[in-house]
Amino acid sequence: MPWIICFLIAFGLSLTSCGTAVKGQEASKMANDSLIDPQLIFDGKTIEKSEAEWQNQLTELEYKILRQKGTERAFTGALLDNKKTGTYCCKACALPLFKSAHKFDSGSGWPSFWDIFDPKNIEAQEEYGWTGKQIEIHCPRCKSHLGHVFDDGPKPTGLRYCINSACLQFVEQKK
Ligand SMILES: [Zn+2]
Repeated sequence: MPWIICFLIAFGLSLTSCGTAVKGQEASKMANDSLIDPQLIFDGKTIEKSEAEWQNQLTELEYKILRQKGTERAFTGALLDNKKTGTYCCKACALPLFKSAHKFDSGSGWPSFWDIFDPKNIEAQEEYGWTGKQIEIHCPRCKSHLGHVFDDGPKPTGLRYCINSACLQFVEQKK
């Protein structure tokens, strides 16, 4: 019965090619995630991942802050004193969030900005903490927590975006 053998071989080959195609798609998806575009304005396409995927991608501290609304200890963030020119992007999905031109030393111990990269690239939400009503801010694309915004910042906005350094990745502007 050689036709059965032929069929089995053909069936086996089609399974193998299917497997290869899926693997290829996964690889390109991961490559896209690591591509950073420092000019990108949020287009409404959200990124959703399982908790296991986030845990796999982020360090323990980043996961705790970004995905579980944690806060890093003051004066411990790697980007606190960064004075280079460039863009601060979301650590979880690379969406641009802040510009170096808007960074200032607030003395709080967390990276602070008086304005945002683009109104589309930040989402805010009122919440009640033990200090009263505050405004939590998060990334609109991956919904990761970033920090809070207060109204005691410098002119011209009067705002202070108080952001965990662990939530940011810095992309230096090429000269
Ligand atoms: Zn994000």
